[in-house]
Amino acid sequence: MIKNKKLLILPGDGIGKEVIAPVLDIIDWMAKYKSISFDISERLVGGEAYDAEGDSISDKTLDEAINSDAVLFGAVGGPKWDNVEREKRPEAALLKLRKELDLFANLRPAIVFDALVNASSLKKELILGLDILILRELTSGVYFGKPRGIESINENEKKAVDTQSYTTSEVQRIARVAFDLAKKRSNKVTSVEKANVMETGMFWRKIVSEIHESEYNDVNLTHMYADNCAMQLIREPKQFDLIVTDNLFGDILSDCAAMLTGSLGMLPSASISNIDSTGKRLGMYEPVHGSAPDIAGQNKANPLAMIMSFAMMLKYSFDMDDESKLIEKSVQKVLANGLRTLDISQKEMQIVSTDEMGKAIIEQLNVLMGN
Ligand code: NAD
Repeated sequence: MIKNKKLLILPGDGIGKEVIAPVLDIIDWMAKYKSISFDISERLVGGEAYDAEGDSISDKTLDEAINSDAVLFGAVGGPKWDNVEREKRPEAALLKLRKELDLFANLRPAIVFDALVNASSLKKELILGLDILILRELTSGVYFGKPRGIESINENEKKAVDTQSYTTSEVQRIARVAFDLAKKRSNKVTSVEKANVMETGMFWRKIVSEIHESEYNDVNLTHMYADNCAMQLIREPKQFDLIVTDNLFGDILSDCAAMLTGSLGMLPSASISNIDSTGKRLGMYEPVHGSAPDIAGQNKANPLAMIMSFAMMLKYSFDMDDESKLIEKSVQKVLANGLRTLDISQKEMQIVSTDEMGKAIIEQLNVLMGN
């Protein structure tokens, strides 16, 4: 039995807890039928942690996250905590985790399942079989650059400033992750910036090109301006395989790519760090959606984004490609069999609850394994 993979589970608030529950069932299933077990601990995060522990993430939880092999994160936030001070708000926990774990590489796949091809606002032929990965730099760029703030110029005039900045090593490390990931996919990277009008854009392009030339010249690299990339994602998304870009453009382009697939409840994500001197790479896996207060506690949430985030964890943190594929395949099959949660409902399909969707995935895993 493969053991001692330390996994920290942070369900969070609202539907976070509901969508994690089916993942725990899958973990039990893996222990029973695949002899794979994890050393699991579970802690509070977000609004519930604020209520119980006085902060949206306690030092102990942060320590546990740092000492884990992977973190599974549900979602945080809700109207109850809207007026909490900024540093202790539920969403601040996410920023702290990203910073403390140095999760600089954010992976967001946009995969169109055959059964959901009609959920996209794009024509079927443009997106059928779509499988692209947006790799976003997550811990630098304009969301963190200094100086930032609002200052007075004179009595009547103020000025707001944000600073876009990147260092050589920040671009180098995200470029390396992009090329390494590309080798496991179609060996093709599109690097995206605004080298035509921004200093950071020119800098980004130069450094990505240098890393490519010196370390990865067997990977196919193209450069594209961010505005063109937004247009091309809608015009002909299948031209892309892996897009690597900075924090701001990645934020926008990954949402754009997400909508090609048609549903928020279907989108997983991973954030990973560099490999440290002991060979360990930290990873946090979470659905793209939030805590959905409007449907929380109603057993209506779609757990598939969380389940596919778990599948990403198996692949990227634990090199369990076969198990990861098995879970993805069972999701495909369940959808092909016509089961839908409310958010992805279509005519003549069977609407199921969160729990029922989870059970259907387990049943499908059993079918695929011949149990
Ligand atoms: P949201 O993603 O929670 O919800 C947006 C809409 O999508 C809602 O109508 C919701 O019902 C629906 N939805 C989301 N996930 C779904 C799922 N799995 N199944 C079915 N329907 C789903 O975004 P929001 O409403 O803007 O934010 C709600 C709270 O979540 C806020 O407090 C916000 O700050 C927080 N938030 C947290 C995260 C995170 O934890 N990573 C991300 C985004 C927003």
